[in-house]
Amino acid sequence: MTIIAASDSAIAAAAALLREGRLVAFPTETVYGLGADATDDRAVAAIFAAKNRPTFNPLIAHVADIAAAAELVTLDERARRLAAAFWPGPLTLVLPRAAGSTVSLLASAGLDSIAVRVPAHPVALALLRATGRPVAAPSANPSGGVSPTTAAHVEEGLGERLAMILDGGACRVGVESTVLDLTTATPTLLRPGGVTREQLEILLGPIAVAQGHDEDGPRSPGMLASHYAPALPVRLDAQAALPGEALLGFGPLPQATLNLSPTADLAEAAANLFALLRALDRAEFSGIAVAPIPHHGLGLAINDRLRRAAVPRSSA
Ligand code: AMP
Ligand code: MG
Repeated sequence: MTIIAASDSAIAAAAALLREGRLVAFPTETVYGLGADATDDRAVAAIFAAKNRPTFNPLIAHVADIAAAAELVTLDERARRLAAAFWPGPLTLVLPRAAGSTVSLLASAGLDSIAVRVPAHPVALALLRATGRPVAAPSANPSGGVSPTTAAHVEEGLGERLAMILDGGACRVGVESTVLDLTTATPTLLRPGGVTREQLEILLGPIAVAQGHDEDGPRSPGMLASHYAPALPVRLDAQAALPGEALLGFGPLPQATLNLSPTADLAEAAANLFALLRALDRAEFSGIAVAPIPHHGLGLAINDRLRRAAVPRSSA
């Protein structure tokens, strides 16, 4: 039985579990979140494994207040105005990663931006304060399922994969947070949600609306620019490097330049994926050859991301 009423001692226990790299579901005002320490690549990989997500999409880093957000991202004047008006609340801001930000590259799907939010729920806020770290938390349901608004929904979908479900009653808003991208000159609405476009425009003036943004990742090659891909060409299912190429290994492969997981552990490979792609994306190489990754479990998401990284791009 993993559902526990959200008392002070249960929140303290949940925070300790998060700091150990375990998964904890917790209530927010929008929906229940599937939480992991956002600074821990392995813990974030466990989120994708538990949800059985076929893709690595960037996750929202939940923090207790604006000061905690400012350690992770660069808040410009627009962001501070919005945060003052809507935090705590159902507004997620996508902002440039701050120098020294501790958020895992897997949590941000390798991007130079990070999505942050301060949830308006006393249990979530107490948990974030007790944890003292940003908590990555997509909705606590298996991929493709309906977002959970009670602890019992979470238990039905993910029960045995979680260290704890903190029960804080039913969620008030019941729809996900609004996601607003502030890395562009004109703020861009990536996902409609609890805060309306009209509410945002009162503070910001006209905003743009992204076409076809999908929480499971871009569907059309035209949207690939919003997802991390190496500058070098990427060649998949490579048994060996060609002259000039770097070889990204998986499993025992002594000739690999770097290895996602020498022991062929998919969770370790997921945790290392973005950091190692970045490490090899250097002009001294002509391309990145990637060893075959088994197509099961987290391998589906790894292969999805590699396939996107391997789509030929023009330099324009
Ligand atoms: P979920 O975690 O399921 O609530 O979904 C998070 C949403 O925020 C998805 O639509 C993501 O694509 C979006 N998101 C998170 N981080 C970023 C980012 N750095 N850039 C663009 N979109 C993001
Ligand atoms: Mg969801």
